Amino acid sequence: MEIIHLSFECYPVAKAGGLGDVVGALPKYQVKAGHYAKVVMPMHRTKFLYQNDWDVDFKGRANLNNWWFDYTVIKERHNKLGFDLYLIDINGLLDRENIYGYGDDTQRYIAFQVAFVNWLDHWEHKPDIVHCHDYHVGLVPFIMKYSYQYNRLANIPTVLTIHNAQYQGWMGWDQSNLIPAWDSWKGGLLEWKGTINPLASAVKNAWKVTTVSWSYMEELRWNSNGLEALFEYERGKCSGVLNGIDADVWNPATDTFIEKNYNAGTVEKNKQVNKEALCKEFDLNPQKPLIVFIGRLVGEKAADLLPDAIASSLYGMQGYVNFLVLGSGEPNVEWQLKQLTQTFPGSYNAMIGYNEALSHRMYAGADFLLMPSRVEPCGLNQMYAMQYGTVPMVRSTGGLIDTVTDMGDWQGWGIRFDHANAGDIVHAVSRAVGLYYDDKKGLNRMRKHMMTIDNSWEKSVQQYLNIYQSIKF
Ligand code: ADP
Repeated sequence: MEIIHLSFECYPVAKAGGLGDVVGALPKYQVKAGHYAKVVMPMHRTKFLYQNDWDVDFKGRANLNNWWFDYTVIKERHNKLGFDLYLIDINGLLDRENIYGYGDDTQRYIAFQVAFVNWLDHWEHKPDIVHCHDYHVGLVPFIMKYSYQYNRLANIPTVLTIHNAQYQGWMGWDQSNLIPAWDSWKGGLLEWKGTINPLASAVKNAWKVTTVSWSYMEELRWNSNGLEALFEYERGKCSGVLNGIDADVWNPATDTFIEKNYNAGTVEKNKQVNKEALCKEFDLNPQKPLIVFIGRLVGEKAADLLPDAIASSLYGMQGYVNFLVLGSGEPNVEWQLKQLTQTFPGSYNAMIGYNEALSHRMYAGADFLLMPSRVEPCGLNQMYAMQYGTVPMVRSTGGLIDTVTDMGDWQGWGIRFDHANAGDIVHAVSRAVGLYYDDKKGLNRMRKHMMTIDNSWEKSVQQYLNIYQSIKF
């Protein structure tokens, strides 16, 4: 099968979160399974662009209303990522340093989508599947079906994968003329609650919809930032496919970022070596349990609870536990987390920013990884942690329910709690501290067990292929 993945992120080209990880891995494993998967994304000005060789594949011209623009499709020359990678450049609009966060993001998203559809319209053959990831490319299924200029593409099956339904790309009707002229009877298929909603439009128009865990799929029917009724109505074409982890990137036995490699057999000894190096770097005590948080410092991740929960834990259990935080996001949370380093030197530290290499060292060196998320579609951090023998401490929501069991359950290996509040986190911390000091044997059993759990992409790839097969001609 020929599958085109459309996305704004793809690791290691450009990544802001889990979306990038998935789009960097899924196509590679589809290729390994014997299919022809490609990624098409904007040409962001990232390091990857300058460090690799590119060929011009196509040059075209398209329009947003009466603004005409030229676009160029370039292809990475050496198949470095294990799949064909195409970048679309639109001068001045897509060739920027950041992936998101510009005042004209809506125009950028639409221009990328229009350029893609325009390019596809020039192909001599048709791909089997166009697989769209998140709302940034959510108008593509509609455009392919109902824009007059492109209705030659109407029969190509489209799949939408939702990595996060909180963000939907809302835009006013005054911008509707940016979408290539469409059948006005079909306006309802762009709309939700009075505005153009690209995510809702993709749910309505894609042939199949998936999200990245079963529990999140369920959750969307009662909690999806306004789209609940839509998910209820469309449930027949929706399913959950759990993300996998890319063992080429996330494997403590081969990871080149970490101090000492290890596997399930050597975790007990070698994890401590990684922990000592990490603690030295951040002025922490390697004899005490180390709890880390890695992620975006936003409400969804319940990062606002961290300062209070960490301070309360350290006051209550001072001398018995260490914390280390890596993340960036809301300035107020960043500031509070930074301030706290002055209150608890030697027991707490924080690195504000985005640092891929450090995240690897933290997964390897920590004893526990905290994820109090309010919303977690799948969550990759807990899966990486498990792969590195680090016990996940998670709130029971979305993908965290599907991937972590509580250590109180039979053969369980994690710590789960129900509420996103500081009290539940502090209680989870006390369970972690108890486990660390009072049940070393149990802790090591969990570590070894987690490291052998199969969270590979191979399983999920098959499920995606079954979905494609069900709609392919
Ligand atoms: P989301 O996509 O909602 O941010 P996920 O758990 O699906 O959450 O994926 C998060 C990914 O981003 C993981 O690979 C995690 O290690 C990485 N990550 C998040 N914040 C940082 C950071 N500040 N530095 C390095 N890696 C980070």
